[in-house]
Amino acid sequence: MLWPAIHYETRTIMTMRSSTFFSLRSVALACGLALGAAGAAQAAPDAKLLAAAEKAQPAVIDNLKEMVLIESGSLNVDGLMKMADVVEGRLKAAGFKTERRKASAGAGADIVIGTLKGTGKRKIMLQGHMDTVYAPGILNSQPYKVDGNRIYGPGIADDKGGLAVMMASLKILADAGWRDYDTLTVLMNPDEEVGSVGSGELIATTADLHDTVLSFEPTAAKSVAKGESLLLGAAGIAQATMEVKGRAAHAGAAPELGRNALYELSYQMLQTKDLAKDIPGVTLNWTVARATGPINQITEKAQALGDIRITQPGAEKKLNEVLQAKIASGKLIPDTETTVKVEVGRPAFIAGAKGLALAQKAQAIYKEIDRELALTPMTGGGTDAGYAGRSGKATVVESFGLAGFGYHARDEYIEVDSIVPRIYLVTRLLTEIGKN
Ligand SMILES: [Zn+2]
Repeated sequence: MLWPAIHYETRTIMTMRSSTFFSLRSVALACGLALGAAGAAQAAPDAKLLAAAEKAQPAVIDNLKEMVLIESGSLNVDGLMKMADVVEGRLKAAGFKTERRKASAGAGADIVIGTLKGTGKRKIMLQGHMDTVYAPGILNSQPYKVDGNRIYGPGIADDKGGLAVMMASLKILADAGWRDYDTLTVLMNPDEEVGSVGSGELIATTADLHDTVLSFEPTAAKSVAKGESLLLGAAGIAQATMEVKGRAAHAGAAPELGRNALYELSYQMLQTKDLAKDIPGVTLNWTVARATGPINQITEKAQALGDIRITQPGAEKKLNEVLQAKIASGKLIPDTETTVKVEVGRPAFIAGAKGLALAQKAQAIYKEIDRELALTPMTGGGTDAGYAGRSGKATVVESFGLAGFGYHARDEYIEVDSIVPRIYLVTRLLTEIGKN
């Protein structure tokens, strides 16, 4: 089954080198295929954990409200610092040692890292993000609002719901005296919605020190999906930049002296537009083209930007090779110079066989409380699970957050009746991971 435009991430693409050239935003559209749950035998629920999850629900809603009322767009450093205060306080209350680090690039807000030492063997990391896509003042037009089974608010699903589930689950396990792990690490970043430019490396290197990473992006609400799911793959994102240098000349008096960069750019875009179709695991679409002008001058410089999606690691390298070869193979206008480069943003996320095995364990846990959990193999959007799984060392599964919809859009909401199941899932899964 396909469902429309669900997941994640609007990414701000880096500003080009010349100030006359442009910066822009690209919105990732996504959709996913839902697989049926693998037939797992049904066991009885862990009554204690289920009761604790039910008891935690009002506090989770309070926590959601507290976080939603802090506007924390990716560029809103004040708001992000307040968010960091809130989550750090909650982690401390669950016994974590906490640390804050400045994101290495971007707006300069803090990354929050919590660690807890146990008595077991497994090293487990939980990750989520504190930023939202919304501009300052969003609460004026889209306030926090409870309406039946839905609670509305900017960022409430993506990703404050994920943070709330994570923190409530950790508190329940801490109160229950669970220590069956070597290390529990929590990492919350302030820049996921702008490509994790200042935290992606830290996510990747921290994840490499762990056996398992659970990532807490939302799952789709009932109104748009057949049921809740976990995510096993997400496209990586890269950008192609093509630049043409021509020669300026008076467009009326002496056009023959010019070398039209815009014509050459058009030619090169057309001769490269289908190159990715022969390379498995990568797509290329030229989506932006600009030229210097003015209208009465033969164009001196022109530039095109291409959106690249990667579903097989390394496919972008092959694409880069064929792009370079193609533009070197010929030009429309003599004396023009064309260059093209491919820059990778967030890596693709591929959960692989070990991720699938963990997700199937999660499906069996959901069965204990009579709920079905689908597995989504791939979405076109990007997630930080791509950084966590970049080296392939850790087992990574995505979408342990709340069921919701409207992210990156309007009227974002979560479904209240997903709170208890999600907390049950996360607490039970963590105890299962600890046993192995
Ligand atoms: Zn998110």
